[in-house]
Amino acid sequence: MQMNQTGKHNLKCPFCGHINEGLLLDETDGWYECANCKSEVFASEIMETAKRSCCDKEVSAAVASK
Ligand SMILES: [Zn+2]
Repeated sequence: MQMNQTGKHNLKCPFCGHINEGLLLDETDGWYECANCKSEVFASEIMETAKRSCCDKEVSAAVASK
C-alpha cells in the first residue's frame, strides 16, 4: 500500500481554502485543478522543494564526473 502514497499530495487551495487530497503532481508538472472552485493552481511549495533536491543531485554529479 506504500506504493499508492508515492507522489500524492494533499494541498490547500490558495483561492478558496479547500483541501485537495491525493493529487498526482508528477503527471502535471505541479499543476492541479481545485475540486471546489475549479481554479488552476500551481503547487509551488512542492515543486520548489523538488527542484532544490534535483539541483543538489546535479551539482554532486558534476563534481563527481570531473
Ligand atoms: Zn479552490
